[in-house]
Amino acid sequence: MSRKKILITGGAGFLGSHLCDRFIKEDYHVIAMDNLITGDLKNIEHLFKLENFEFYHCDVSKFVHVPGHLDYVLHFASPASPIDYLKIPIQTLKVGSLGTHNLLGLAKAKKARILVASTSEVYGDPLEHPQTEEYYGNVNPVGPRGVYDEAKRFQEAMTMAYHTYHGVETRIVRIFNTYGPRMRLNDGRVLPAFIGQALRGEDLTVFGDGSQTRSFCYVDDLVEGIYRLLMSDYVMPVNIGNPDEITIMQFAEEIIKLTGTKQKIIQKELPVNDPKQRQPNITKAKTILNWEPKVSRSEGLKITYEYFKSLPKDVLFARDHKQFETYIK
Ligand code: UDP
Repeated sequence: MSRKKILITGGAGFLGSHLCDRFIKEDYHVIAMDNLITGDLKNIEHLFKLENFEFYHCDVSKFVHVPGHLDYVLHFASPASPIDYLKIPIQTLKVGSLGTHNLLGLAKAKKARILVASTSEVYGDPLEHPQTEEYYGNVNPVGPRGVYDEAKRFQEAMTMAYHTYHGVETRIVRIFNTYGPRMRLNDGRVLPAFIGQALRGEDLTVFGDGSQTRSFCYVDDLVEGIYRLLMSDYVMPVNIGNPDEITIMQFAEEIIKLTGTKQKIIQKELPVNDPKQRQPNITKAKTILNWEPKVSRSEGLKITYEYFKSLPKDVLFARDHKQFETYIK
């Protein structure tokens, strides 16, 4: 029997590369696509030797061509951290809007099922807590996060339109904060920021008073949820995340304990429109997909810390770390 074929955009990124691994494990033919602006070939170089793996260096915002048949498309290409939106706002808007349009067109032409990566950011700074899929959100379209949030909201609208108007088989996952090996050390996200600071012997920068909350999901749990959603017949958006909520101040303290750093916590200005609280309601994922997270934060953080510790010194002290510092006021 011939293998099922899947296209994964953003395949060299943090989540995309873990999805490549998962579908290789399931014996698919995997095509990873990436323009490598925020992705890194190191994340997938172990797959290049496989005959059922291909890499296309391509910007999906421009045009997407894949020869032959396709069974599935996973659209995971996008910058995904506030520091990236500030650096590359136009590309962020384009990949969520034009890129999604191109991939929906591809899925339609190939009669493939497509799953798009949406985000808890569609809820903005939420006035409903925890967030259910029925909540419409509280987003500032012209704030610094607007380029990401609105592109993702447009993406969901476009995906539903292709489903209702063209009958394309679509799936929408709303991803909450996720962590694990292969996160970019200097992308400004809180976990690599804190662990990087601990490893470099710097103080940990908590933004604001640290009372804002997040709920962190380990990457293997997320991948399992996405796999189940793709294989399900459910077309409305589904939250995938870990409801175990924590304040950023408590999180900094956990990282200090984990790394054994002697550094202290210092407070910096809270970025504009930084959501005050975030926790997924995962009732839908539980009932429809029979899914819930299995990896505790203490287990997941240990594995992730080992990964960051194993990075070479020049990566740990890389120049784009300086760009991150200019973002912190
Ligand atoms: N944060 C922080 N220190 C940092 C980086 C981030 O206190 O060095 C905070 C940030 O203000 C936010 C939370 O940690 O409240 C999560 O930030 P991240 O960028 O990881 O994700 P998002 O805000 O998109 O959930």
